[in-house]
Amino acid sequence: MNDMKFDIDAAAPKPSALAMVPFVSVADMMRQVNQAGIDRVLRDLAAYIEADFRRWPEFDKTPRVASHSPEGVIELMPTADAEAYGFKYVNGHPKNMREGFQTVTAFGVLASVATGYPLLLSEMTLLTALRTAATSALAGKYLAPEGAEVMAMIGNGAQCEFQALAFRALTGINRLRLYDIDTEATDKAIRNLAALDFQIARCASTEEAVEGAQVITTCTADKRNATILTDNMVGAGVHINAIGGDCPGKTEIHPDILRRAAIFVEYPEQTRIEGEIQQLDADHPVTELWQVLTGAAAGRSDARQITLFDSVGFAIEDFSALRYVHDRVRAGAPHVLLDMIADPDDPRDLFGMLRRAEGTG
Ligand code: NAD
Repeated sequence: MNDMKFDIDAAAPKPSALAMVPFVSVADMMRQVNQAGIDRVLRDLAAYIEADFRRWPEFDKTPRVASHSPEGVIELMPTADAEAYGFKYVNGHPKNMREGFQTVTAFGVLASVATGYPLLLSEMTLLTALRTAATSALAGKYLAPEGAEVMAMIGNGAQCEFQALAFRALTGINRLRLYDIDTEATDKAIRNLAALDFQIARCASTEEAVEGAQVITTCTADKRNATILTDNMVGAGVHINAIGGDCPGKTEIHPDILRRAAIFVEYPEQTRIEGEIQQLDADHPVTELWQVLTGAAAGRSDARQITLFDSVGFAIEDFSALRYVHDRVRAGAPHVLLDMIADPDDPRDLFGMLRRAEGTG
């Protein structure tokens, strides 16, 4: 029996370098973003996402694996190309915020397809906000009306400032019209954004916020079919960046607007389950964003068209974000090494490695 008692703390030899996996903690991510500058990070992330969207057919794709409960959802988002495999673990719990928890938290892994070994473990709560904003702004760059400067933002929670900064970094947005049912959320957003040279109008309703806006971002969190935007609020030529409707039974846009708009999506197989278009017939025409980026499909057709990016967040965006962070880590960005992979001297002698702890392996 004694043979089976191993003292893990006493494990003697250090695992080889291959078995040590870079880990980017929340503090590391904060340092990385602050050192590089958030505008630079958003632009770089958008470039990585655009590069991966342009080679869309190279990826294994599947709608994310979602585990729903009355309070929220926990999801795994996997994808792979010929070299790397990535996945994100992410939750969405709108009621969390009232209890002092965040609505969305995440972490993710990038791994080598050749060996199956993890290459990177990273926090992805901050990274999700950054990559969601970079993706929205990338879509906005291709779809928003020419010369757009004014964006209405309905929902001023965790994603809000990231969205504003990404739209400024990638498009010409510099004026914001903010509305949230909770005035404290708007206070927070104004506090954070006022120092960053945005012209900001605090609005008393969604109707007021969308007045004169060429782009409308909806980023509310409510686990129901909400109607944040009704048909009469949306005039010709507007681009709608709808990010809060991302789960079955959780939408923001009235179906009449969807029927008037040209709709752009990430991965239709997932968006038809989770996005605003779950409210439409299963064969309602949509355009895949990656095809707009490659030029295979048209973006905005004219100045009067209403365009709508029905964002739900797709695994390739997380893959791009992890690829970006991995490149930064290789260039020396903050991280620690984790002893994550067992590393027996003889690959078949995993049991023998256990015994290293006793000095007998
Ligand atoms: P959050 O809980 O921090 O903020 C949501 C805000 O919406 C809150 O301030 C709340 O008061 C406000 N709100 C709720 N109902 C409203 C209404 N009717 N009108 C105006 N404001 C309203 O959440 P968050 O992290 O900012 O996320 C926002 C939404 O975006 C969530 O639904 C989340 O699931 C979604 N999301 C989508 C993606 C994506 O890739 N598409 C990524 C991240 C988050």
